[in-house]
Amino acid sequence: MRLIENSTDLARLRIDSGLDRCAFVPTMGALHEGHASLVRAAIATGRPVVVSIFVNPTQFGPNEDYGRYPRTLAADCALLAGLEVAAVYAPSVEEIYPRGLEAAAREAASLALPEVALTPQLEDACRPGHFGGVALVVNRLFELVDPATAHFGEKDFQQLRLIEECTRADPTRANRLEICRCPTIREADGLAMSSRNRYLSDGDRLSALALSRALAAAADAAVAGEDDAPNVAAAERAMHEILRASGPAINCAIEYAVVRDACTLRPVADFSQPTRALIAARVGSTRLIDNRAIAPRR
Ligand code: AMP
Repeated sequence: MRLIENSTDLARLRIDSGLDRCAFVPTMGALHEGHASLVRAAIATGRPVVVSIFVNPTQFGPNEDYGRYPRTLAADCALLAGLEVAAVYAPSVEEIYPRGLEAAAREAASLALPEVALTPQLEDACRPGHFGGVALVVNRLFELVDPATAHFGEKDFQQLRLIEECTRADPTRANRLEICRCPTIREADGLAMSSRNRYLSDGDRLSALALSRALAAAADAAVAGEDDAPNVAAAERAMHEILRASGPAINCAIEYAVVRDACTLRPVADFSQPTRALIAARVGSTRLIDNRAIAPRR
């Protein structure tokens, strides 16, 4: 496994070592089993696998955790060395944004994003500017790596939909690149794995279980009995009740707990089409997100 830190070496390796048309897994590091599952999906394509590790400053708001985001490159490389990864690309901020961060922030803000990243009032509303930064860095990484497949987790569902839409909107890219969805990997008790889970105190860690429990309650509400027609408002109420019951930390800080169209992420009136339950909540000082598919009901 090669560790590459600049785009010149990356370009050379692509040509010299047959890394062209690779399977690509972009990450911000602090890797866990969720990331490893993406790497395994990439390996399963039979292509050489490239993993990027880059904590992207343009997708963090001014009061977010960019400064304290865990940076664990040595441990990440150790984890990846146990998998069949051809190269780890861990560029500096200057490498990704050679014209400087202010210019990058302006560029991120000026990008025309698809509706799914602008109107649902989910991450788009809670983290203004976030998706501009995501679209900017993913586009830059795609340009540098030029992969054949790129693997993203459903854990960040609105981000996944953004990347699917951006790729679809660019026919040249869509012809060269397949965006592959990977399911959310959870701890045994249901908590979705996240690099931010390491911020949780023992008490927060228990409260955090409310997110996956609330999503399960929404799925149960959606399959209510024949006479008890499933109802989106009831599913959303069930989520809020569980989140509120989980203790004062989470009680104060539900950002959203909603059921949405699984494609547009817009509100739905019923469960006749594929829907997705999505939650963002602050547990202590840690912001967590999670989501779950809800099967359509006819
Ligand atoms: P991050 O390093 O948090 O930016 O995530 C990098 C990629 O890993 C994204 O595509 C995430 O959606 C994905 N990911 C993060 N957590 C999980 C998880 N628990 N299960 C599956 N994929 C995940």
